[in-house]
Amino acid sequence: MAEKICFWLTPVLLGLSGLFVVQAYMQQEDLKLRNFEAEIETALRTAKTAAGVEFLGALSRNCLLPASGNVNTNDSVPRYIQDPSNVPPREAWYADSTQVFDNLFFVGGKLHTAWALVTSQGIIIIDTIYPYNSEELIIGGLERLGLDPEEIRYVIISHAHGDHIGGAQMLQERYGAKVVMGGPDWELVETYPNRYTSMAPTRDVVATDGMKLTLGDTTMTLWETPGHTPGTLSYTFTVYDQGRPLNVAYSGGTAFNFVNNTPEPGIRNFQTYIESQQHIADQAATTGATVLLSNHSEFDSAVTRNRMLLGRGDGPHPYVIGEEWVQRYFRVLQSCARAAQLRLERAVATHPSGQRVRE
Ligand SMILES: [Zn+2]
Repeated sequence: MAEKICFWLTPVLLGLSGLFVVQAYMQQEDLKLRNFEAEIETALRTAKTAAGVEFLGALSRNCLLPASGNVNTNDSVPRYIQDPSNVPPREAWYADSTQVFDNLFFVGGKLHTAWALVTSQGIIIIDTIYPYNSEELIIGGLERLGLDPEEIRYVIISHAHGDHIGGAQMLQERYGAKVVMGGPDWELVETYPNRYTSMAPTRDVVATDGMKLTLGDTTMTLWETPGHTPGTLSYTFTVYDQGRPLNVAYSGGTAFNFVNNTPEPGIRNFQTYIESQQHIADQAATTGATVLLSNHSEFDSAVTRNRMLLGRGDGPHPYVIGEEWVQRYFRVLQSCARAAQLRLERAVATHPSGQRVRE
């Protein structure tokens, strides 16, 4: 009986395996037929067109400059904490704090932003820069603007890199502020105790997608936008300009510093990033966001716009760029990511066994 089954089964199995070989070969041929150069060119052109002259920082960072390609798995104490002589000079990072909207105050630096969203029940701080400049820029900035740091109730961290989480522990310890961060980034902080020396808040609030954070008369909506880090957060919220409500889309992570130098997991990681940009772009569209904020002035020109505010007079608010431009920002990030993803797809097509091919 068993022999009889074998007699019938063998040709069936042989036929099936042959079919798989042919199918794999055809898929391979399909990949070879694709004109990757043209697809990459289209993605780059889409990014360039979307950027116009508004988002040249994001365009050059993500379409032009080499990506880091990998993630940091070291647990070493940062150089600027090991030895204070490594702290960059003040003129490299200092910027004046300023009121930007009725309820939103800039307390960041030349390169990295930090914001104070003032509500009827206290202050929400959005990002905290480095450990070495958060005291002067955030606390000093609030005091300079006549705001009381004792009123800080929440600190929201876009992602757990040293240029954004630097002052979170200090604000939590000094003012009892509750720290809000994405779950996977809380895990980063807990996994690398040395890396987060002096910038490791204890776990308070784990943000989830669509979570509402309400303080007094103000509500922010938090969105999970993994990619830059696994727990990166973006936000939508309302600000007021001379009483007029305006909606903001805040993008919490930009550069490609996830693993992307090999097709696996690079292609997948770019897909996560692209989908996250679509997610926050959709929320921006739903809320009719006309203001785009990032956590680096390189991407949202915050420091330049702050200077423009000084000469605004009765003119338009320099941060209000309109719904279409807000959408175009996310198109730049998506298209640059697509171009980089296509390079990895091309690597797979030209080196079918080459999972370790570097582009
Ligand atoms: Zn980062």
